[in-house]
Amino acid sequence: MDLTQYFGSNTFNDAVMKERLPLGVYKALKKTIENGEELSSDIADTVANAMKQWAMERGATHFTHWFQPMTGVTAEKHDSFLSKGENGRVMMEFSGKELIKGEPDASSFPSGGLRATFEARGYTAWDCTSPAFLREDVSGVTLCIPTAFCSYTGEALDKKTPLLRSMEAINKQALRVLRLFGKKDVKHVDVCVGAEQEYFLIDRDKYLKRDDLIYTGRTLFGAKPPKGQEMDDHYFGTIKERVSLFMHELNEELWKLGIYAKTQHNEAAPAQHELAPIFSTVNIETDHNQLVMECMKKIAARHGLACLLHEKPFAGVNGSGKHNNWSLVTDTGENLMKPGKKPHENMQFLLFLAAVIKATDEHAELIRLAASCPGNDYRLGGAEAPPTIVSIFIGEQLEDILAQLIANGKATSSKEREMLKIGVSTMPYIKKDVNDRNRTSTFAFTGNKFELRMVGSSMSIADANTVLNTTVAESLCQMADELERADNFDDAVLKLICRTINEHKRVIFDGNGYSKEWVDEAEKRGLPNKASFVDAIEALTYGNTVRVFEKHGVMSKAELQARAEIDYEIYSKTTNIEANTMIEMASRKFIPAAIKYAGVVADAINSISSALDESEADNEREMLGECLELIGDARRTLKRLSDNVNTAARISNEEEKAHYFRDYVVKAMQALRESVDALELQVDAELWPVPTYGELIFEV
Ligand code: ADP
Ligand code: MG
Repeated sequence: MDLTQYFGSNTFNDAVMKERLPLGVYKALKKTIENGEELSSDIADTVANAMKQWAMERGATHFTHWFQPMTGVTAEKHDSFLSKGENGRVMMEFSGKELIKGEPDASSFPSGGLRATFEARGYTAWDCTSPAFLREDVSGVTLCIPTAFCSYTGEALDKKTPLLRSMEAINKQALRVLRLFGKKDVKHVDVCVGAEQEYFLIDRDKYLKRDDLIYTGRTLFGAKPPKGQEMDDHYFGTIKERVSLFMHELNEELWKLGIYAKTQHNEAAPAQHELAPIFSTVNIETDHNQLVMECMKKIAARHGLACLLHEKPFAGVNGSGKHNNWSLVTDTGENLMKPGKKPHENMQFLLFLAAVIKATDEHAELIRLAASCPGNDYRLGGAEAPPTIVSIFIGEQLEDILAQLIANGKATSSKEREMLKIGVSTMPYIKKDVNDRNRTSTFAFTGNKFELRMVGSSMSIADANTVLNTTVAESLCQMADELERADNFDDAVLKLICRTINEHKRVIFDGNGYSKEWVDEAEKRGLPNKASFVDAIEALTYGNTVRVFEKHGVMSKAELQARAEIDYEIYSKTTNIEANTMIEMASRKFIPAAIKYAGVVADAINSISSALDESEADNEREMLGECLELIGDARRTLKRLSDNVNTAARISNEEEKAHYFRDYVVKAMQALRESVDALELQVDAELWPVPTYGELIFEV
């Protein structure tokens, strides 16, 4: 099939709207989408009807308001179009009201105390800026309507609402700055994001044999295999056939959903892969990334595979992240993050660059938090992913310009691109990029966009972008305030850029982010370093966070506090499930297997002793002794873990509880894992009750 024909065929996109809506209705809807104007109920009815017709022609029987509650995964409630007609007939109905507003029972979703259980009402409201789409699966075809989810009193109960608010905030402030640069024709500034997604694919039958993977998405036990990723033979290696078939089907499904899945390659770890889309406006990209994750899981199952989106599915093997590429683009097509040929003369670019640097420095902890989840704790800072310290990499060319600005109050030159010397005369000349890449940086300028490389692979990108948008909006706001008052704009801009860079240069770092030296250096520079998710949560309620988020109408103090509460809860609940899974696996699988093995060895000792004589079984006796010792260790660490889990259950304050889980339960989990992993290396492979690391990651 021709890709240009079926690309986006499962979305109610602009082309479909143009074709199916009366011109007046189409224009009114576009006004709502582009300028946020209110939608009348007549228009909504007409749109709903056209949407229903379109969906039914493609086999849809149900519709759902698709939303992103604070759990970070998507939720939906299905309704059918069916209603009673006359004389026992049925009618297929879908009104404007049903399109615009839904009422799922909000009490089933986390609210962090924003909603008392007796006020269960919550609303989903159509986000018409993100196209409705069709989902095809075994249950049939469903029309999915992207929505925002809020409480009866209008507080955001989801990840989408603050994101949409933050887009408005940054649009407003960026426009103020652009006006000062004389850009009068620009009407709108969009945030553009491309989210690269890493994931693992393993064999589904083996996956189903491991409770830890099923319940928690990661392995909680597992000794290191004889071969890991040390040979670097997986990265960009040829893709296995079964995996290729999966990727092929995934691409097709994503293309039908209007998602520009573009590149795919193997990643550093065995069984690890990556998918990169072409970037979109951030709210659409956020929806798309959720769909990418959903489709990956669904399609993997069809190929006898399981897709793992966890940040650290295997200890000792590189984990997965998400690279959030972020830029600002005007409706006239100008990328505000593009330095141009002579960045030292491009004051507008340098001002926006300074705004990002200032925001990163002033809200580093909030950025750290927005890229945190329980799973990411096992990945960040492990010399495979960015450290827990937020810094910004800008590359040699810009560093040089900023150094000139700081030293002389102005910059007079930009380093030029050099030719690449390959040393073979028949090879074509290639101009090098002005900057090399820095893979170890948390937040890297990559030529025309900033790449936040900390986000966890399973996370929604909504939080990270809400924070980037809001904090950069605040920088731009302060800058516009100052520049609007200035008598001589050119002088004032240059001074403002120099001052901002000078004040915030400590956050710029171009060295090796994985090194121990950087941790020490960052401390000297006074940069915050929140070692864990739990430690970072308090950033949500800092005075400065509340001030900035309230000022730009992104979140109220109550909404921020609610999110902190939910984060603590999520951490405790996740860790509790992991701990309980470990307890169950250790007591019902691993210890019994080890005992069985000890029995086998004991039998061997008896037979050898009776066939030969006692001393001939010395080796076996030693083995038995070691095995019993390890079983003893496992039982002791198991007991400690159970005790700690019980203690945690008695703590009622969510913040305290999360800290207890992190400080005590996680430590006990590690201890139990160590003793079981040691047993795995002793016990007969035939008796080991679950697939090993080697089997999981090399036999796909
Ligand atoms: P990488 O730099 O990681 O090798 P690319 O340059 O292809 O790879 O870009 C990675 C991601 O960044 C892709 O999803 C791409 O669509 C996205 N991207 C490219 N330009 C922009 C931009 N101006 N704004 C946001 N995202 C962008
Ligand atoms: Mg990247």
